[in-house]
Amino acid sequence: GQCITHCPVGALRERDDTDKVFEALADKEKITVVQIAPAVRAAWGESLGLKREEATVNRLASALKMMGFDYVFDTNFAADLTIMEEGSEFVEKLKNRENEKFPMFTSCCPGWVRFIKTQYPDMVNQLSTAKSPQQMFGAIAKSYYAEILNVDPSKIFVVSIMPCTAKKYEAGVEALNDAGAGHDVDVVLTTREVDRMIRSEHIDVRFLEEVELDSPLGISTGAAVIFGATGGVMEAALRSAYYLVEGKNPEPDAFKDVRGNKEGWKEAKFTIDGIELNVAVASGLGNTRRLIETLRSGKVSYDFVEIMACPGGCAGGGGQPIWDGEELAEERAKVLYGLDEINDLRFSHENPAVIECYERYLQKPLSHTSHKLLHTNQEEWELNPLKNE
Ligand code: SF4
Repeated sequence: GQCITHCPVGALRERDDTDKVFEALADKEKITVVQIAPAVRAAWGESLGLKREEATVNRLASALKMMGFDYVFDTNFAADLTIMEEGSEFVEKLKNRENEKFPMFTSCCPGWVRFIKTQYPDMVNQLSTAKSPQQMFGAIAKSYYAEILNVDPSKIFVVSIMPCTAKKYEAGVEALNDAGAGHDVDVVLTTREVDRMIRSEHIDVRFLEEVELDSPLGISTGAAVIFGATGGVMEAALRSAYYLVEGKNPEPDAFKDVRGNKEGWKEAKFTIDGIELNVAVASGLGNTRRLIETLRSGKVSYDFVEIMACPGGCAGGGGQPIWDGEELAEERAKVLYGLDEINDLRFSHENPAVIECYERYLQKPLSHTSHKLLHTNQEEWELNPLKNE
């Protein structure tokens, strides 16, 4: 397909993993848990003939339940967790500003992580150690959630629905599997593969009732939804970093200047507790290279930088139904910002399920357990699609 040639991890054949999922669904011993990534909810209905307003995440949840999934959850729960960990990591670095290396880079996009590891290995230590929401979800599903269900973690089979082919390879990286029950994420499906499964099961999505996502890993905030758009991770992280430093919430839209860059990269300045912060956001690997080269030449300097390999961020990802460049990514991003705006919860640190997960299991961001399950040593591994195939 056309998308493959645009895939930021380069020359990937799309591997079809739908059979593995059908097998797990048929296995009565397995508890099947599926997570839906933010950008998927803006795109999954396109090839099934649904209008944008009809193609809700709740209708997709309904289709997944019909296929036999036991629990339908939201990657956004883990996106909120990512923000708690990454935001805290950034605030800790700021406290030690003289000795730390800046900028800190986001680490949730495997296309970008692979790019920096191969192209600029001397900067890898500036990547956030936070794992991506996909991997955090898997680790939590096979530890905390196994405990809630009171089952052995090896019974849990975790499927992700991602806008992204690179996520398949991320899930295969051994250094990112920490829950101790096989791979934290067993199978990654792209939006296109899920659409194929829905068609092969003859489910007519137009007539499905919408259902709520399951609890507690289905609860999420508006800050998590915007992860799917370029600038979203930065904005969500700043909302919570502000709270961590100032002890009160900012206006939810205080950091919206980082939204929607089209060309090059976007810069913004904010002041938190008297500290001036310079941040930058880029998407697309051409823009990324230009940003990094300018940074290395010393012409600019930033505290925090968000990079997404696909132009427009995951909303335009290589596993989405149709690759139509930035235009469609922009349209899908609007859906995500709309979902953020109408959410009663706009801050990751206010997600009640995340708060409970810390109280009952992780203790606090950057705790020993958080480090074990939710962080990684970036210098320890490479993301090489060929090795993990
Ligand atoms: Fe995957 Fe999103 Fe990164 Fe694209 S921007 S490679 S879809 S994680």
